[in-house]
Amino acid sequence: MKNIAIILAAGKGKRMKTMKPKQFLSIGGEPMLTKSLQVFEKSPVIDEIIVVIDEKHKDECKRIVKNSFHKVKSIVIGGRERYDSVYAGLKACKNCRYVFIHDSARPYVDQDIINRAYEAVKVFPACAVGMPAKDTVKIVNKDGYVLQTPPRDRVWIIQTPQVFRYDLIREAYDIMAERSMKGITDDAMVVEASGISRVRLVEGSYDNIKITTPDDLKAEYEAALKAEADQADAKEAASLPEKEAVRDGKGDREIRGDKEKDKDKEGKGGKEGKKNKS
Ligand code: C5P
Repeated sequence: MKNIAIILAAGKGKRMKTMKPKQFLSIGGEPMLTKSLQVFEKSPVIDEIIVVIDEKHKDECKRIVKNSFHKVKSIVIGGRERYDSVYAGLKACKNCRYVFIHDSARPYVDQDIINRAYEAVKVFPACAVGMPAKDTVKIVNKDGYVLQTPPRDRVWIIQTPQVFRYDLIREAYDIMAERSMKGITDDAMVVEASGISRVRLVEGSYDNIKITTPDDLKAEYEAALKAEADQADAKEAASLPEKEAVRDGKGDREIRGDKEKDKDKEGKGGKEGKKNKS
């Protein structure tokens, strides 16, 4: 019996207001979809990956997967809503013990999250990753009046992966389809509504954000640029003493004053120089 990851990438990403859906937009030089695939491909816990995609992007997805992601056994076509896409992914699972359902729009999933979720699902058959809310949350009516303020320590913000024993989640989705349930926004909700199991929450990470609007990507680009600039600075800092030693004919690594280093940084495309260029 295998552990299978279903990576959801069939969304239209309308809130991004871009030509391409967000899962194909570039993060740090690679399509967003690649990021989640890399993490699940590397995980020793995962045996197989199924990617769920819109028909229009099948070729692009094949190009991404080819040669790099050997665990991807099938690319299936998703549906109108997220739950339709999940159901298509579930139907494509064969011989599966645990299934990890993950949004490709969360590119910062990591091995620790996968491992924690795996340990949890072996004990509790329905698990969702999430984090305690940092902000106070209000339940409002349709006119915007507050109905309730739940105690903050009981409010969690839910992420993916959501991890289930396969037979259980499959049964829950079959029930959902039979009852033509609507308004479902995550997989835990399908299990909750089916009444077949309680859902246990597992700690994710505050970094495991979902890229939803252009603002999320702006923050992402800034973080990527900063990381690149920091890396360039670190590389330059490591190479400067050697250069100086060659120029002075001395081997003393501490020979340069801070002022000289700063001058070099500005002139040679250090962090400030890079930021100004972009
Ligand atoms: O739209 P939202 O941000 O909630 O989408 C969450 C994830 O579900 C995304 O990775 C998206 O590609 C996927 N999705 C899907 N099929 C849909 C809608 C969303 O695979 N019909």
